[in-house]
This record gives sequence, C-alpha cells and structure tokens, in this order.
Amino acid sequence: MIDFELNDEQQLVRETARGFAERELAPRAAARDRSGQFPVEELRALAGLGLLGVNIPEALGGAQAGVVAYSLAMTEVARADASVAVAMAVTNMVGEVIVRFGTEAQKRELVPLLTSGAAVAGAFGLSEPQAGSDPGAMATTARREGDGWRLDGNKQWITSGDRAGVVIVWARTGGEATAEKVADTSKGSRGISAFIVPGGTPGLSAGKHEDKMGLRGSSTVPLTSRAAPSCPRACRR
Ligand SMILES: Cc1cc2nc3c(=O)[nH]c(=O)nc-3n(C[C@H](O)[C@H](O)[C@H](O)COP(=O)(O)OP(=O)(O)OC[C@H]3O[C@@H](n4cnc5c(N)ncnc54)[C@H](O)[C@@H]3O)c2cc1C
Repeated sequence: MIDFELNDEQQLVRETARGFAERELAPRAAARDRSGQFPVEELRALAGLGLLGVNIPEALGGAQAGVVAYSLAMTEVARADASVAVAMAVTNMVGEVIVRFGTEAQKRELVPLLTSGAAVAGAFGLSEPQAGSDPGAMATTARREGDGWRLDGNKQWITSGDRAGVVIVWARTGGEATAEKVADTSKGSRGISAFIVPGGTPGLSAGKHEDKMGLRGSSTVPLTSRAAPSCPRACRR
C-alpha cells in the first residue's frame, strides 16, 4: 500500500512556501509581470527559506527535503507568481545537476552559491535557435584550448541567462567539431557534454530579452559564447 500522506518535513516546506508566496509574492506578481522586473530580492528571500535547494544535501547548503517537498514548494510559488517560479525551478535544477554529475570540487564551490542566493540564479543553456524539442540538432561546439575549453555557439530562450552566476552550457565535443569546421550534428544527441560556465565569463554574452506574453518577470535571453577563453574551473567531466 502506498502512503500518500505528507510527512512533517514536507508539510513544513509546503506551509513555508505557501506563507511566503501569499504574503510576499502574490501582492506584487501582476506589477512584476507588467514591468518585467527581475525578482532579485524574491530569489534571495527564497534562498533564505531553503527553497533554492530543496532537494540538495544540507552539506551543500540545501534543505535536503526530497522531490515531493520540492514539487510542493514549486506549486505554492507558481500559484502566486509564475515568473519567480521559473527562475526558482531552473536554479534548483542547475544545483541538482551539479550535485548529480559534478566533481567534488565543483559541488563544494558552486552549489552553495546557488542555494544561498549568492549566484542570484542558475541558468541552463540547452536550446538553440534550430534545436528546441530536439537538442540533438545543437550546433554549439566545445574544444580543448590550453588547460580549459573553448565554447562557440548560440543558445536561445535561456531563463535567467543574463542574471545567473552559474550557467550550464551544453555543447558538442568530439574531434570533428572545430571553430573552422561546422559542427557535425549527424551523431544526434551523442557527443554532447555539459559545461559549467561562471556568469560573467569573458566571451559569454546575453542578447535582447524576449518580449513575452507572460512570465515577464523571468528573463529569457539568447546567450552567445564566442572565443570564451579557457575556463579552467569549468567544467566538463
Ligand atoms: C519562457 C521560456 C523559457 C525557456 N527557458 C529555457 C531554458 O532556460 N533553457 C533552455 O535550454 N531552453 C529554454 N526554453 C526553450 C524550450 O525548452 C523550448 O522552447 C522547447 O524545447 C521547445 O522548442 P521550440 O520552441 O524550438 O519548439 P519546436 O521544437 O519547434 O516544437 C514546436 C512544436 O512542435 C512539436 N514537435 C517538435 N518536434 C516534433 C516531432 N518530431 N513530432 C511531433 N511534434 C513535434 C513540439 O511538441 C511543439 O509543440 C524556454 C522556452 C520558453 C518559452
């Protein structure tokens, strides 16, 4: 028999998120949507409540409350302000990706920046102008340069892409892809790796905000990586 009752911790997370959402988010959600103002203070407050790392180990600054608690928190925040919820969701996701796949050093250095709000937000650069539902069509390339990697390409519709202190960028590795030679997309989703790029890395630039019909408090931008110098801390594993 499956027990669908929420445990004490899950109830606490839900009540915490609900209280904050009703008190602090809902009253200004419509104004934020009209103005398109990015919710820096709101994200910082969510971090203070442990909601930027709900399913992340306590040792890395998270609440370690599990996926059910995370989904309860998301539901409460999204009910009040979907823009804040999108930025919150991507930040949690970026932290979880690093926890799951990062090196110990990457986890220790970067995850606390996300859970504490110091990084403002996390961003996840997968989609490209020609690669949405089918990321296997992506053309961004990564190649070794010195002791790091050089990324070249264009990402599209990246949530918090101009605000995030930690950006995960997906790119094609493999010998066939060089700056001179167009990426070989014939391998589909094989040969794609994830890189961690600190926000503000030289060569990484954000373009014009999408003028969306909704979720306007969440920034959605194209990201270009050109001649980004080696990123020794970054990156691939
Ligand atoms: C507000 C917003 C925020 C976003 N944030 C991010 C982000 O942070 N990071 C990121 O990487 N991306 C982000 N995206 C991009 C999002 O992931 C893509 O929009 C999504 O993957 C769909 O891609 P597309 O828009 O190119 O649509 P398309 O791939 O062109 O699809 C259009 C329609 O065709 C359908 N379709 C596609 N292929 C097939 C098929 N083979 N058979 C049948 N139907 C098909 C799709 O289901 C869809 O309904 C964001 C998008 C939005 C709108």
